[in-house]
Amino acid sequence: MSESKRAGLALSKSRYLCGLQCPKLLWLRYNAPEEVPPPDKSSLDIFEQGHLVGDFAKKIFPDGVEVDHSRSFEYGLTQTEDLLKKRVPIFEAAFKAENCYFRADILVPSDQNRWDIIEVKSSGDLKDVNNLDVGFQLHAAKKAGLDVRRCYLALINKNYVRNGDIEPSKLFNMIDLTSSIEEFAKVAEEQIPKMLETIASNCCPDPGIGNHCKKPFRCPMFDKCRSFLPERNVFFLYRGKELPFQLVNAGIYELAKVDVSGLTKHQSIQVECEKTGQPHIDEGEIYSFLKNIEYPAFYMDFETWMSAIPMFDGGSPYEIIPFQFSVHEIAKEGSEPKHTSFLYDGVDDPRPAFMRALMKCIGPKGSIVSYNASFERNILQKSSEIYPEFAEWFKSLKNRFVDPLLMFRSFAYYHPQQNGSCSIKKVLPVITGQSYDSMSIGQGMDASREYFRVTFTEDNSDKEKIRKALEEYCCLDTMAMVDIVGKLREMCIE
Ligand code: SF4
Repeated sequence: MSESKRAGLALSKSRYLCGLQCPKLLWLRYNAPEEVPPPDKSSLDIFEQGHLVGDFAKKIFPDGVEVDHSRSFEYGLTQTEDLLKKRVPIFEAAFKAENCYFRADILVPSDQNRWDIIEVKSSGDLKDVNNLDVGFQLHAAKKAGLDVRRCYLALINKNYVRNGDIEPSKLFNMIDLTSSIEEFAKVAEEQIPKMLETIASNCCPDPGIGNHCKKPFRCPMFDKCRSFLPERNVFFLYRGKELPFQLVNAGIYELAKVDVSGLTKHQSIQVECEKTGQPHIDEGEIYSFLKNIEYPAFYMDFETWMSAIPMFDGGSPYEIIPFQFSVHEIAKEGSEPKHTSFLYDGVDDPRPAFMRALMKCIGPKGSIVSYNASFERNILQKSSEIYPEFAEWFKSLKNRFVDPLLMFRSFAYYHPQQNGSCSIKKVLPVITGQSYDSMSIGQGMDASREYFRVTFTEDNSDKEKIRKALEEYCCLDTMAMVDIVGKLREMCIE
């Protein structure tokens, strides 16, 4: 980095938070940005949700004025100066001190020429990183000469229930951070010069991989920083916690090279399978699981979405809303499955229609087989609390669930190609040879995102195509369970 560049260095809030997570990431962001992969789809979703939430927070202050940042940060600074004189709420006010700069989500005039800073988050819970974020703002604002009275965090109020138009003042909980934020401002004061030194250095720091790679955010360099590891490495150890880091520090990278002494029972099975390349099959345990399935059996799977902003009356932020189900019914052992599906098409609450349709296809007797059944059970419970007309029916289902995931989690069956995962996406290929690879929608997250997009946004010209892909995806989820159970049965008979 040239001397002139070094002299003019200043840290933005996002780079400061990035520097707190990892000095290597910070250095790369400034010195080799092309090395850092762009945000993935789910990060982009989070950003977009953040913008939407931010727009609602601004509506709490109808006389607020937005700073125009379309030209340059400097232009934003000048505009901010003018607006500060007018004593109106300001959105995206820009501040620059000698070595740091930031934009405040919302700045509200308070008494005696002072100002309140409001940082808006799309989450409902206060996190440590939020304090560090606001602490940076307080430090930089003071350095830039702003007289700050209080600092708030506007968090989503998860108890808000929509009734008509969104009421922004009820959608948020204002958390007053003032009494504790000074200590986080001090952290910023201490850390900023150190981070600037890191950035100005000619060498990229290497702190090594660790828990910081995922906290508070999954680092975009995550895969690159682990590229020194072999494909089948110790980080796939089932529920490995800190152990993979200890193994890497001891120079053990390959899963097959791990000494099984000291491992849990499941980890030992995993490592033994890794060494032999053969699956582990506990026929007795599989048989016990299969015996739990009573006929007619209903193989059932739901797809859901959730959003910070409730989309219909009666909805709350971050409520999990089921919009689709697939059920394969097997009348008796060995008989052909009968498929029923439901995919809601409307912008109101799907739950009444969803529950009615499900009631029609789940018979009064027999097992309900769901992979990770607690998810489906919780959805039904919550839906029947909100719509009590389904409560009695739900009560009659509650004890009929059978969950294949539990059997895989107990390692009654384990194949080395599962790579330590019991997800149906990993189990299906190793047991049946089928996979989700050719599906245009092959993940629950994609299903939620795409359903939401074509249902609630104007970006929906491919709606029919997406709905067809959703039908195929959810159908495969239940058919996968039918096939997995069928293969397990064959294993026990052979
Ligand atoms: S993956 Fe970990 S070590 Fe690599 S840059 Fe990110 S936080 Fe730092």
